[in-house]
Amino acid sequence: MSVSYVDFKTVDPNDYDALIVGSGFAGSVVARELAERGQKRVLILEKRPHIGGNMYDEYDEAGILVHRYGPHIFHTNDEGVYRYLERFTEWSDYSHHVLADWYGTYMPVPFNKNSMEIAFGKERAAELIDKLIETFGDERKVTINELRAQEDPDLSEIADFVYRNVFLYYTQKQWGLTPEEVDPSVTARVPVFISRDNRYFQDAYQGMPREGYTKLFENMLEHPLIDVCLHVEAESVFDLEFEDDTEDASLQAILLKGQEFEGPIVYTGPLDELFLARFGRLPYRSLDFVYETYDTEHKLPCGTVNYTVTEDYTRITEFKYLTEQVSPKTTIMKEYSRAYDDPDRQIPYYAIINAENEAHYERYRSLIDDLDNFYPLGRLAEYRYYNMDRIVRLALDLADTILAPDEGTNEA
Ligand SMILES: Cc1cc2nc3c(=O)[nH]c(=O)nc-3n(C[C@H](O)[C@H](O)[C@H](O)COP(=O)(O)OP(=O)(O)OC[C@H]3O[C@@H](n4cnc5c(N)ncnc54)[C@H](O)[C@@H]3O)c2cc1C
Repeated sequence: MSVSYVDFKTVDPNDYDALIVGSGFAGSVVARELAERGQKRVLILEKRPHIGGNMYDEYDEAGILVHRYGPHIFHTNDEGVYRYLERFTEWSDYSHHVLADWYGTYMPVPFNKNSMEIAFGKERAAELIDKLIETFGDERKVTINELRAQEDPDLSEIADFVYRNVFLYYTQKQWGLTPEEVDPSVTARVPVFISRDNRYFQDAYQGMPREGYTKLFENMLEHPLIDVCLHVEAESVFDLEFEDDTEDASLQAILLKGQEFEGPIVYTGPLDELFLARFGRLPYRSLDFVYETYDTEHKLPCGTVNYTVTEDYTRITEFKYLTEQVSPKTTIMKEYSRAYDDPDRQIPYYAIINAENEAHYERYRSLIDDLDNFYPLGRLAEYRYYNMDRIVRLALDLADTILAPDEGTNEA
């Protein structure tokens, strides 16, 4: 069996019990659950030419497995999610390592005891590490704001170093901000890790799908009750019926091919797109990816290098570390962060979360208050940043909610 792809022209909405917009983790997990546990006939509408959302990976011309929408590393403390996905993939036991390029010298990120020795020299680092352990205890993560709050000159020295050399320029590039515009609440979260653990994540479960994410999604969507339509933008095939003609009138029904779709509709695209941006576009940051292939086994010392004090790009990822692929060639990817100002050509990657934008989002969200069979889910529909594990959990929960009248809850 393989994924069942159908042409939208031939689709009869009466053949389906549930409609899902988007085939990332949000859409695909709900689709699988509704089909498998609820015996629902599910139709997925996906506007891209492939399934898998931002996790999509494929082999490039050099035969290297690359991620097309940013490097995705799986990590979680939610064992249920890890085991659930294990049904669709075998995991490798890859742990991600990130180095900061500090004027040509590499330092582990998050900034830890090993980074301190590189930054301050062994002797001075030993004094600073003793001070950190004395104040906070060993094997702890403390933020640079916590360090500053101690008013100790040694701790401030560490905080200032990390702020200037690891955080500031990287954050400015990523969000297109001046130093003054960098929100203190973001600075507050930058950690110093009192440890020699060089792994980027400390979660209990970490790994990569052995055959790649696309294969994982194919396995998830291979089900006799699931059909997928690619190249279909929901807003171009949905007819929306509103309470009245005013701008803030609430949505009453969604029609597909001229008839109201009464089953559950799980929508994982951006809400502003669904309503044709009637209140203006929701702000995002976008990314440009530049790939380079080399006739060498490895180009970088680890999976990702962050450029925290130089270069226009934020980071470079070398996929072979992530995928553990063996090849005499390698492909790296440079990430450039961009303003999101051309929705026809760009992809919305990171919601820019602040009070004004959240109010903007809430205005869209209030349009769907009256529509009981409409479920917004995922990083776009909820205008939030979610890691993959979190969105899988939320998708399992939503499937429980939708299926609740029919059966019990999921055990994952
Ligand atoms: C650069 C980057 C790197 C990341 N790295 C990690 C990582 O290392 N680890 C981690 O855990 N998380 C990572 N994430 C987060 C991860 O991408 C999200 O958790 C995940 O994509 C959420 O899945 P989703 O289904 O909500 O959204 P998506 O994966 O974006 O899927 C949404 C799908 O809906 C489709 N769609 C949208 N609008 C419409 C429409 N109108 N009609 C039809 N289809 C539509 C899209 O084409 C897409 O396929 C990263 C995110 C980014 C931006």
